[in-house]
Order: sequence, then C-alpha cells, then structure tokens
Amino acid sequence: DKYVYDFAEGNKDLKDLLGGKGANLAEMTNLGLPVPPGFTITTGACQAYLATGREPDGLAGQIEAHLEALERAMGRRLGDPQDPLLVSVRSGARFSMPGMMETVLNVGLNDRSVVGLSDQAGQNDRFAWDSYRRLIQMFGKTVCEVPGEEFEHALDEAKRAKGTHDDLDLDADDLRGLVETYKKIFAKHTGREFPQEPREQLDLAIRAVFESWNAERAILYRRQERIPADLGTAVNVVTMVFGNLGPDSGTGVAFTRDPGSGAQGIYGDYLANAQGEDVVAGIRNTVPLQELERLDKTSYDQLLDIMARLEGHYQDLCDIEFTIERGKLWMLQTRVGKRTAAAAFVIAGQLVDEGLIDLDEALHRVNGAQLAQLMFPRFQLDHEFEAVARGIGASPGAASGAVVFTSARAVELAAEGKSVILVRRETNPDDLNGMIAAQGILTSRGGKTSHAAVVARGMGKTCVSGADEIEVNVPAKRFNVGGRTVSEGDVVSIDGTTGKVYLGEVPVTPSEVVQYFEGSLDPERTDDALVRAVHRIMTHADARRRLAVRTNADTGADAARARRFGAEGIGLCRTEHMFLGDRRELVERLILAATETERTDALAALLPLQRQDFVEIFREMAGLPVTVRLIDPPLHEFLPPLEQLAVNVAVAQERGEDVAKEEALLAAVRRMHEENPMLGLRGVRLGLVIPGLFAMQVRAIAEAAVAVTRDGGTACPEIMVPLVGAVQELETVRAEAEKIIAEVVGDSGVEVLIGTMIEVPRAALTAGQIAEAAQFFSFGTNDLTQMGWGFSRDDVEGAFFWRYLELGIFGISPFESIDRDGVGRLIRIAAEEGRAARPGLKLGVCGEHGGDPDSVHFFHEVGLDYVSCSPFRVPVARLEAGRSAI
Ligand code: ADP
Ligand code: MG
Ligand code: MG
Repeated sequence: DKYVYDFAEGNKDLKDLLGGKGANLAEMTNLGLPVPPGFTITTGACQAYLATGREPDGLAGQIEAHLEALERAMGRRLGDPQDPLLVSVRSGARFSMPGMMETVLNVGLNDRSVVGLSDQAGQNDRFAWDSYRRLIQMFGKTVCEVPGEEFEHALDEAKRAKGTHDDLDLDADDLRGLVETYKKIFAKHTGREFPQEPREQLDLAIRAVFESWNAERAILYRRQERIPADLGTAVNVVTMVFGNLGPDSGTGVAFTRDPGSGAQGIYGDYLANAQGEDVVAGIRNTVPLQELERLDKTSYDQLLDIMARLEGHYQDLCDIEFTIERGKLWMLQTRVGKRTAAAAFVIAGQLVDEGLIDLDEALHRVNGAQLAQLMFPRFQLDHEFEAVARGIGASPGAASGAVVFTSARAVELAAEGKSVILVRRETNPDDLNGMIAAQGILTSRGGKTSHAAVVARGMGKTCVSGADEIEVNVPAKRFNVGGRTVSEGDVVSIDGTTGKVYLGEVPVTPSEVVQYFEGSLDPERTDDALVRAVHRIMTHADARRRLAVRTNADTGADAARARRFGAEGIGLCRTEHMFLGDRRELVERLILAATETERTDALAALLPLQRQDFVEIFREMAGLPVTVRLIDPPLHEFLPPLEQLAVNVAVAQERGEDVAKEEALLAAVRRMHEENPMLGLRGVRLGLVIPGLFAMQVRAIAEAAVAVTRDGGTACPEIMVPLVGAVQELETVRAEAEKIIAEVVGDSGVEVLIGTMIEVPRAALTAGQIAEAAQFFSFGTNDLTQMGWGFSRDDVEGAFFWRYLELGIFGISPFESIDRDGVGRLIRIAAEEGRAARPGLKLGVCGEHGGDPDSVHFFHEVGLDYVSCSPFRVPVARLEAGRSAI
C-alpha cells in the first residue's frame, strides 16, 4: 500500500486520503505557489495504526524514502548538527476539526543542532533557542502528555524574572535557561530525557498525531458534528520556515473576503517575529493585515496576488495561513473558509456576478438552515450593550426576560404575563414546564447535544448553553458573571445564534430578510447586499424546484402572511381551533346531547361559524388549493380537565347548589377518559362514532366554497380525513360527504376533492387499497413518526431524546428531520403503491418535516408533489426544494 505522498503527487480532490490540509497543500504546490516542501502520510496509515496499535508494514520505509528525497531537495539533513533540516508534523483530517488535534513544530532540533541552526541564521542564538524551547514545549505536551501549564508557568516565570510581559524581551541566555527548565519538566513527567535523536522525534510525533484522533475531545467534537469515527487523520510533514527570525519575519492568517459579511476586502491578522501558533494563542497583539503593506510591501503584494489566484481557483472564499521568513513569503495552509449565513448568500451572489460560478452553483452553496437563521429577529445592538458571557448558540433567536432559576418560578411569572429567561447549570426533564414557559434558556454547562439544547431546538425556543463564565447559584437565586451579580428578576438578553449574553433588555427588530419576504423591502431598490443576494437566489430556487410549497394555516391572517412568503396553497388547515374560545360551549352541548334534537341543534349552531372561517381562508387563498382536515383530536380536549371538574362539583354540592348540569358534564368527561388518548377516539374514528359531526364540517366547507365562488372568487377545497388506517373507514366517510357535496355544490362549478392523511403505519402499508377511495394523500409525518417509532411526541423529547442523541442512536430527533430508513420507507411504499393504484395521485406532506431542509430533499426524491409547513418555514422549504432539484 502507498501510505506516503509527496505534495507534488496530491491534489485538492484527495481529501479522503490526504485530509483537507494535505490535499490543499498539494494543490497549492501544483499551482506553483510557494509551499515549503513536504509529504503527507495518508488517513489509511492512521486507520491501520488505530486498528492494530502499530504502524503498518512498509510505512517506516516509505517515510524514510520521502524524508531522504526531502533532504536531497533541501540540501540538508533532518537535525544535522551543522545545518539542520527542521520539519513540522501536522494533523489534518478529512473534515476540519479546529484545535482538536495537534501540531509539533521544529522537529529535528536537539542540543547540537540548535547551535547549527543559530550559525545558519547568522549567529542568531536567540532565534535558535526560542525554536528549541518551542519544540520541547509542543512535543512534551502533544506527544508525551506533559501538562502544558507547567511550561507556561516556566515561561511566565522567566518573563517575570526579566521584569517584562513580552516574550520578545527574553534574550538568548534567558531562552537557553528556559530550555534547561523545560527539559527538567519533561524528564520529571515522562521519566526520560528529551529525545535527542531527530528520527525518533519524528516517529513519535507522527504516532502522537495518529493517536490524537481518539483523544477524548476529538471524539466529543466528532459526535457533535456528526463526523464519522473511523476516518482517521492524515499527517503532514512540512519543511520548517521561520517567522521568528527577526522583525523582517512573521506569520499571519487571512481571508479572501470577510467571512462575517461577505464583503470584499482584506481581512487578516499579522504578527511580526513570531511562530505559527502565537497568532491564535493571542500571546501578543496582532496587527491588521493591511499593516503588512508598510512592513514588507513586496510580500504584501505577493500575498494579495496569491489570494486572488486561490479564490479564482477554488471559486470560493478561502482562508489561508502564511509565514514570512526574512522577506520571503510561504504559504502554509488554505481551505474553503467557514462563513456566517449572511456571508454565504452574499458571497454566492458576488461569485455569480464575477462570472466564477453559475446560479445553480450559488444555490448549491447556501442552505435552508442558513436562511432560517437570517429570518430570526435580531438584537439591535449599539455600544451600550456589551456581552458579559458567551456560550454555545444552541438554539437560535433573540430573547430577553427576567432571570429565574427554577421551573416553578418560570411558570409563575409567565402566568403573570412576564417574559422570563430560565437560568440553570444544566436542565433536566423536570425543567420542561419552565422551559415551555420561558422566553429563552441559559445554561452554564453542556454543549450542543445537552438536554437544554435539544429540547429548546425542538420547541423552537432560544437557548444559549455552556456559558461557563456564569456561576449559577440556584438556592441563592442569583448568578455571578465577571464580578457582577444577577439576581432573580433582573433582566438579561440572550442571543441563541452567537451564544452571547447581555445584561438588560436589548431591543429586537425583524431581520432585513423577513422585511424582504414581507414585501416591505424592495430587492431592486435596496443597497442591502444580503437582501439582493437572497432575492436572486430565491428566484432561482423557485425556477428550479419541482416540489410545490404550501403552508399550514388555519386563519385568514396566517394564510395571508404565508402567501407573501410564497406559499402556493394550504396543505393543512386544522379545524380544531375553530371549536375553541366561545364555541367551546357549543361543543359541550354537542358532546352532552342526550337526544337527536339536542345534537342536531348544537351542530346547526356550529355550522355557520365554521362556514365563515372557511370563507375567510378561501378568499385569502384565491384560486389556490386549500386542504382542510376534518376534526382530529380527542373530544375530551374540548372539555374541562377531569380533576378540576370533580373538585368544582364537590364544592358546589357541599354548598347545596344545583349541579345537575355539571354532574352530567362530569359523567361525560369520565366516560370519555382514555388512558392513551392519542391512540384512542380521534380522527376518522370520531367521525364514525358521532353522527353528523363530519357531515356538518363537510357542509360548511362546501357552502363556503360556493359562497366565495358566487362572489366571483375561486375556491379549491380539498377535504382531508385524518387517521385512516383502513380503506373502509375512508369509504364510509366519503360516501356521506359526496352526497352532501353534490347537494350543496349543484351547478356552481365548485370542485371538492376528498382524500386522506397517511399517518397510521397500516395506511401506508395498504396504500394501494386506500388510493382506490382517495383523490389525494397527505403524509402526516408527525403521527407517522409517533406511531412508527412508538414515541409519544409530547413526552419523549424532554424525557430521553438527549440520551439517544448522546449515544448516537439517532443524529437528530426523528420529529425534527425525517427518519429516512424507517418512517421514510413507509412513505416510499405508500407513494409507490398509491400511485400504482391511481396514476397521478396527488401526494403531499403536512407534518413539521415539510419545513426541514433534509426532509425536503427526501420528499423530492420520493416524488411528492408538494410540502406544507408553517408560514415562517415557507421560504426555507422553497429554497431547499430548489436545491434538491439541481
Ligand atoms: P491547525 O490545524 O491547528 O491550524 P497547523 O498544522 O496549521 O495547525 O499548524 C499551526 C500553525 O503552525 C500554522 O498556522 C503555521 O503558522 C505553523 N506551522 C505549521 N507548519 C509550519 C512550518 N512547516 N513552518 C512554519 N510554520 C509552520
Ligand atoms: Mg492551521
Ligand atoms: Mg395527525
């Protein structure tokens, strides 16, 4: 097997084999850019090492051969006492795992070659000893697990002895002394002397990089980022170049565009007389990259030139790491850079303008999650507000409220109409009520898959987790941060996108992107680059997509908003809210009806109210299809809770009041009590058990459609029967409905479709039969997931999903993103067998998944006709539908 590749042998497409860093170093080498020579040991070698615990056969020989070639090319030998070749040993996996794995610089230095290095650098003792102390420090820490603080303390001590804070003030003698101290630290912790043999240093460093793949923090990071555990890392061995040779040397990082906003310009930091890790370690203050123009114009111009070339070549924003050694520029790393959601859209638009990519590619480079981020309201920050802490942006949004420390208190204050922020060290399932009541959740512990983070995302609630500067004291009802105390009732603001925490109430404002979707910001007129880019890419997505996008809406107002957001109809109009409020009383009468007359009277009273609801919706959706679901939830949801009612009745009886009516109600509630209401009398079952209920709804829909049409409008109602599991259920409802429709519609020209939800697994598996009676299917993916997995949707998220996520049983809640293998299979079967029985059968989806990016791609693949989602997700679904079609 070939385990080692010279930089000249690789290219950017070999990331699986050479890791991101290695593949891009090879690419730059082949572009003729100034990359220090070197070679890459493959991820395959790492996998073999991790599997067997030793280097695979042949690896040592191949390294030897490449090292010799490198030595010949450089005219120096590794660690040679007179003129040493030094190398860095750098990790680099397929996916960037920032700071997770290690790099060792200056490999090849020892007690003798340090002198040769100084000679070669013009008797620069300071430089040579500085490089040597760095090697011992990095090697000790990474390869031999010597606690890093010990080296840092020693360095601080040396600076203190010298009366300085700046390591540049340490001279050659100080650094030589520091090397002695470092060696002692090394020996104390490892029980051996610092290895003097250059090749041994190299081999141990390579092995350490292999092993760093399985360091605890790397494992955690991979789990969070869903990076497969078996990829392994590549190892890059790179000839050292020196940014610490004096004031005419230095090192820096740069972006080809602003990764925050996407704006063009020069973005980077530079640090003179320093070696690599100093920039990120923040030991000394960097200067803006523009300063380099003054310090070294030639290198600066060359750098800008190279950045432009890299952008042209990668056709994207690149970030780079470089070093200048005595006026000579070296490129040490590049990759397509990470960016914010706003920058992603802006840059994609710019690259189209520059002719580097086409609109399909631009669409490919942005995604629905980014668009969703751009739609959250945001804080209007000015200088007045400064973050006091920063955690993980676990669930986006901008929330302000009074601080509370217990779930109970959150519920209490929320009931008074206050907005609250629940602050906990970490939440647990007992906090659920408080989380629901709170505007936002702030924890001092836990990452992206902590209980708080998972549950908050599921609820669409703002959450900052793991803000560890905050010391939470629940019994004392306060937290401390940066010397300040925040007590219960004090107001804080949290930003679930950036993870920042502010004291006081930061005002919020709708984002520009929402203003654009709302129609209050004209994309042709604005000079807002983001809005223009979003408009352009959305327009292209609409042109490309095959899936239609509808919305879930049950009021005229929601329907109107969704239309502005681009909805092409209603995929789910729930009718149950139409039974609440002052209509509850009518529903009670219906449920309690003892005689036929009482029941028909109650239904007759409900009919005109329902009809008016539908009239409004049909008007708003003029000409677009509206799928109305007949009543679905168990009827007892419309009645008072059993316990409360029982207490009321008992109290009233005690007082000797007349409670005949209440007693009847109580008896009904008792009669209808179910252990598992979600598996009980609901959906089509209600329609079959309570005579006249569905008939009333069907009549209201048909009459509303006729009324709107008579007024010159167009109504396209689609009646949807919920919870069907057998074709006979649907046939029974349909027969009755068709009679009513025929009678109401007459010759008005109105057409009413009758279809069903597919949300019971049995319906999916008998879809061929059901399609005989259904003019359309709409997948109710919430219930299909609930019944497919046997997970009670209302209980499981807070109870144990966090644990399932931690264990990797699933990567994301199946209620959030469709489970392709299981629930998805049911959908596939139903789609295929349904269409086989009835060609052209209209297929849609109306669960929460309709607005989830990954699920939208799945629905496209399965060949559905439309997805339906909440009004706010409509733009996201449009974008992803477009992306799935390219
Ligand atoms: P990371 O993946 O954490 O960025 P790198 O392998 O890129 O780690 O190394 C960190 C820094 O070390 C680089 O940015 C660079 O400044 C410095 N470095 C690495 N290799 C060399 C080298 N051969 N010569 C000079 N500096 C180097
Ligand atoms: Mg790097
Ligand atoms: Mg359902």
